[in-house]
Amino acid sequence: MILLDSVCKTYPGDEKPALDEVSLHIEPNEFVFLVGKSGAGKSTLMKMITKEEAPDSGKIIIGGIDLDYVKKRHIPGYRRRLGVVFQDFKLLPRRTVYENVAFALEIAGMSGKEIRKTVPKVLELVDLLDQAKKFPDQLSGGQQQRVSIARSVARQPKILIADEPTANLDKLTTEEIIGLLKKINDFGTTILVTTHNENIVNNLQKRVVTMKDGRIVNDQKNGGIYKLDETPQLKLKRTMQAPGHALKPRPRMIQ
Ligand code: ADP
Repeated sequence: MILLDSVCKTYPGDEKPALDEVSLHIEPNEFVFLVGKSGAGKSTLMKMITKEEAPDSGKIIIGGIDLDYVKKRHIPGYRRRLGVVFQDFKLLPRRTVYENVAFALEIAGMSGKEIRKTVPKVLELVDLLDQAKKFPDQLSGGQQQRVSIARSVARQPKILIADEPTANLDKLTTEEIIGLLKKINDFGTTILVTTHNENIVNNLQKRVVTMKDGRIVNDQKNGGIYKLDETPQLKLKRTMQAPGHALKPRPRMIQ
C-alpha cells in the first residue's frame, strides 16, 4: 500500500541527507507509528508520500501509483486520494463544522446530493453531529482535530497519514483521537502516524518504525514499543514494566 525503496533526499544547502536509503513497505490495513527524535527525517518521509517533496533517488509507490509518473498538474488530484491530518488541524475558520467537511467533498467533485448524504455520516463517525453548526473557534482542540479527521476520511481514502496529530492536545483528548484513528483503521484504512507520544505508542502495540539520522534503525512489526535508539538495556526494561507490557516480555530486545 505504501512502498518506499532506497529513497534518498538531501535538501538544497544541507550536507547531511534527510533521508538516507530509506526502504519501507506498509501492507494494506496496517497501523504504523513512525517515531524518532526531531530532525530524524519523519516529516520528510511523510512529504515523500504526499509528494510535497521529491526524492533525489529511489522509488515511491503509494496505493499502486508510482509517484515518478504523477505530473505536477495531477498532484492535487493524487493528494485527494490520501487522507492527510495535520497537527494544527488546518480548518477553514469562517466555515462551520458541516461546511468544512462538505467543502472537501465539493472540491473532490462530489455532487450536492451525495455530499448531503455523506457529511452527517462522517460527523457521526467522529461523534460531532451535534456540533455541525459551530465554527472551529467554538470547539475544543480535540473537537477541531476530529473535524479535521472527518474531513480527511470523508472521501474514504485507502491511506490516512497524520503528522503529529496529537501534538497540541492533552492526554485524554490524545487518547480519544488515537481511538478514532484506530476505529478508522478497523474499517480498513491503512494508517501511518508520526508521534513523540511514548504512551500511545506503547499502549496500542502496533507496528513501530523508528528513524534516526535519516535512516530506519528499527522496525517492530507487532506489539512495537517506543524507543528512539538502539536503547540501553535499563530503559527498555523500565518500558517493559509499563502496564500492558509486563505480560509480554520481549527477550530478544533486552539481550
Ligand atoms: P523530523 O520530522 O523527524 O523532525 P525532518 O524531516 O523535518 O525531521 O528533518 C530531517 C532533516 O532535514 C533535518 O536535518 C532538517 O534540518 C532537514 N530539513 C527538513 N526540512 C528542510 C528544508 N525545507 N530545508 C532544508 N533542510 C530541511
